[in-house]
Amino acid sequence: MTRFSALFLVCACLSLRGQDAAPENRYAAEVANLSEKSGLTFRFAETDHFVWAWTLPDAQVAPLHKVAEDAWKHFADSSGVTEYSELWKSQRGPEKCLFIITTSGVQHAKAIDWYAEKYKPWKGFKDAASSQSYYVSSAPRVASLIHLKPLSPSRLKYVIAHEIGHLVVQRYKFNNQVPPPWLEEAYATYLEGKTLGRTDCYCFQGTYGDTAKSLEKLTELEWKKWKEAVVDQAKKRKDKLMKGILPLSLSQLGSDEVGKSAAVIEWLLDKDKAKFWAFVASVKKAWPQDYQMNWTEQKSAIQDTALKDAFGFGLDTIDEEWRASFSARKK
Ligand SMILES: [Zn+2]
Repeated sequence: MTRFSALFLVCACLSLRGQDAAPENRYAAEVANLSEKSGLTFRFAETDHFVWAWTLPDAQVAPLHKVAEDAWKHFADSSGVTEYSELWKSQRGPEKCLFIITTSGVQHAKAIDWYAEKYKPWKGFKDAASSQSYYVSSAPRVASLIHLKPLSPSRLKYVIAHEIGHLVVQRYKFNNQVPPPWLEEAYATYLEGKTLGRTDCYCFQGTYGDTAKSLEKLTELEWKKWKEAVVDQAKKRKDKLMKGILPLSLSQLGSDEVGKSAAVIEWLLDKDKAKFWAFVASVKKAWPQDYQMNWTEQKSAIQDTALKDAFGFGLDTIDEEWRASFSARKK
């Protein structure tokens, strides 16, 4: 269900707001505050699991609400998480994830300033968020800040599904740490493909820089074709081994690595979705508690153990297990 409110209605709600204000009024008030502080006119809507603030024409944003809810449904169906309150927790308690979508870098910067001022995130937030067209923040307020350039409005849907994938991996069994980069990027890409049948993969193609280049045509790539290309690489034994993918940072992951990892994630989920989420939960639980951006041997060892506990095989044999799954299907 989607509810639109013109800004004057938001203001009207604000003037009536009291102690017992319904949650939707809290969200409307938040977006009204964003408008006031940024000097921009944001429109507001609330859907089942998300809150929306945007400066684009309504017609360009309305289709994104369904994409987001469809992406949520894919996640919910596989993880068993049904209520947003189980996943989206902000400093004030459970709150629907906030999407802020603007039309330009200038507006994007104003939205980032507002978020930084209001929610006081980590020290490097403003620099990190300003350097990217899309940014997700899993704490202290679960949000994604997006600006349109250089995409056409019709391609924003890929960004929405993808960013939800990033946030899901960050927020599931939240431990206030940086999740394994391969897991986050590949699940985001998987969710994008699963929700829309295609991926745009802009995240690492544009923002991070694609270093692989062997799967070049990534724009609006059909998910099925990408998977076929990955399997084709595997048959030639040219696919990247998971052991080699795990140490890579987000900026080092290219299409070959993300394609392989996303295919492996889909395979693990198809095998046993409960075991996949148990694997993610074990990794989060055992993850180093001090902030470590770089890969360490310990990080691979944690994932190896979690994989063995959940599925009965570890990093030494996961590639062979995965390859055997599609060669078995061919027979
Ligand atoms: Zn991404």
